[in-house]
Amino acid sequence: MSESPNFLSQLTGCFARPAAENPTVAMIEAAFAHHGLPWRYVNCEVAPEKLGEAVRGARAMGWAGFNCSLPHKVAVIEHLDGLGESAEIMQAVNCVVMRGHQYIGENTDGKGFLQSLQEFVDPVGKTMVLFGAGGAARAIGVETALAGVARITVVNRSEKRGQELAQLLENNTSTAIEFVRWEGDYRLPEETDIVVNATSIGLFPDVDAHLNLHLDSLAAGMVVADVIVNPPMTRLIQDAAARGCTAIDGLGMLVNQGVISIKYWTDADVEAKVMRAKIEEIFGV
Ligand code: NDP
Repeated sequence: MSESPNFLSQLTGCFARPAAENPTVAMIEAAFAHHGLPWRYVNCEVAPEKLGEAVRGARAMGWAGFNCSLPHKVAVIEHLDGLGESAEIMQAVNCVVMRGHQYIGENTDGKGFLQSLQEFVDPVGKTMVLFGAGGAARAIGVETALAGVARITVVNRSEKRGQELAQLLENNTSTAIEFVRWEGDYRLPEETDIVVNATSIGLFPDVDAHLNLHLDSLAAGMVVADVIVNPPMTRLIQDAAARGCTAIDGLGMLVNQGVISIKYWTDADVEAKVMRAKIEEIFGV
């Protein structure tokens, strides 16, 4: 043997509860294997009261970082050394990165969405309608506003949550923001360029659920994106495609946030298509 063998893996993973149903591990390990990277990603079941210990454990073992999923995205912040720009605005972290001995919290959900959107349209100066005001909507709203979307209309069922997101975007970005309470079927304004479903409508097992939306207001030329990954072919995606819109399913966001996380941890640029193929295999697409 010319070189001494190296049996030490570089470690990353995800802290969540429940952890068993999270398929990100399969997608990320497929990329590590494809590129021959000596890295591992481990799903860890972490109870809320053990989160601090889990982060200290990761530090002790030299983890390059980790994803945080429910219920830790906000609670993890007190255990970190700093936040990236969009995570600071959102006050939510889904990706922790070791930079110069410090754990910095980032949010790659919105960045992953933005990257999948940019494959089809340049968001700068565009008008967007954003359905939802939960964690996914917050990430998408902040990231697209920072990227230069000119106007965002937040449409949400609960007025309180919707107003809070509209206020957050108004206070932290220069995008024009409007809130509309979602009652009955919403009619998309004619000037809409981008439509985003960031609600959980359409998620398995309620796969026939549809957004309260005047379908005739979906016009060819609009870009329509859904965050739902299971199943990726939601009613909205089907309706949008049938009306000649450009339809973007939720897999792009999921895959791209993984690509960005891997870049943060390993500095490697991995192939999104390898990860997408693994996720499609898992969801039987
Ligand atoms: P939250 O629980 O934080 O927010 C849910 C949102 O959906 C709220 O705005 C809620 O409205 C709205 N909503 C739910 N049911 C209805 C309904 N029947 N009618 C109208 N509005 C409804 O969830 P998240 O934001 O964390 O997640 C939303 C979805 O995004 C999930 O399905 C998740 O899987 C997906 N996701 C996908 C990612 C990807 O990579 N593709 C990444 C992250 C999330 P209200 O405020 O009125 O309750």
